Amino acid sequence: MTGSSHPAPVKDHAQGIAYIGGRFLPAAEATVSVFDHSFLYGDGAFESIVFRRRRFYAFEPHYNRLVDSCRYIKLDLPEDHDALLRMANELVRRNDVDNGYLRIVVSRGEGYPLSDPRKAFKPIIVATIQREPPNKKPSNGIRLIVASTRRTPADSLDPRAKLNNYGNHIMAKLEAIGAGADDAIMLDRNANVAELPGCNIFTVSRGVVTTPPAGSILLGITRATALSLLRSGDIKGVVQAREAHLGPLDLYAADEVFVTGTGTGIAFVSEIDGRKIGEGKMGPIVSQLSTAYDNALERGDNFILGGSSN
Ligand code: PMP
Repeated sequence: MTGSSHPAPVKDHAQGIAYIGGRFLPAAEATVSVFDHSFLYGDGAFESIVFRRRRFYAFEPHYNRLVDSCRYIKLDLPEDHDALLRMANELVRRNDVDNGYLRIVVSRGEGYPLSDPRKAFKPIIVATIQREPPNKKPSNGIRLIVASTRRTPADSLDPRAKLNNYGNHIMAKLEAIGAGADDAIMLDRNANVAELPGCNIFTVSRGVVTTPPAGSILLGITRATALSLLRSGDIKGVVQAREAHLGPLDLYAADEVFVTGTGTGIAFVSEIDGRKIGEGKMGPIVSQLSTAYDNALERGDNFILGGSSN
């Protein structure tokens, strides 16, 4: 017994095919060393990329962010853009999945059980596929709390790097679970709103849409897509879409709050710290934005052709 109060998760994710160190294997057999530096220290980086009809959304920005994350921690990415895209297409084909998420993980690899990065021998890439659940959209909105866990400042661990170390995020998530909420909002060291453990956040107030600026957040790809859709002129009621600091009051007082992320897509927030947001229902701007995002995914805007092995 572990003493954990959480129910054991169902292991349905371990079906299908995974990629590990140059080979495609049944996911249940694709294992890393007990001396792997990501397992021991979270010493590595990752990306999650959505695909629809076997086409990846925004593969390039995801790849670029992975390169930046690896450079930040002085880790040599063992495969280049074309090799990773070929691998990703092949993995989708072997799993025979049309809609889902690709996760690419890079670890500094097996080494001595010492956190000295020079003690790891060879970086390794692991990739897995997750199917998109059939009825993904939560209809009642997401209930959030403002967590006491602060987002790491850039001089501790730059949040722009998407690293395998998610201890900071898990602390915030545990607070949300403890409070009976769906997820947590982390503030930065200066009590500005930063982000959720796996999403960026936006407010809408009298038509002005605001999201926190670079500094204490991961610069999400879905966040960038949302900003460009909001600035396209196609979404009625948007006066301005801007990057600016927000405090908890701005969240509580907003007409609409929504979150963005590869896994979540665009989802509205119904409640924060026991305060109903707007009417507590899906608001007009997030509703239009969410449709525009889904249409972009369906149409294949910004997609890189996927699903074939060559
Ligand atoms: N912030 C954090 C901490 C995340 O892990 C994620 C998910 N990758 C996001 C924001 C959203 O980023 P993206 O839209 O690129 O998935």
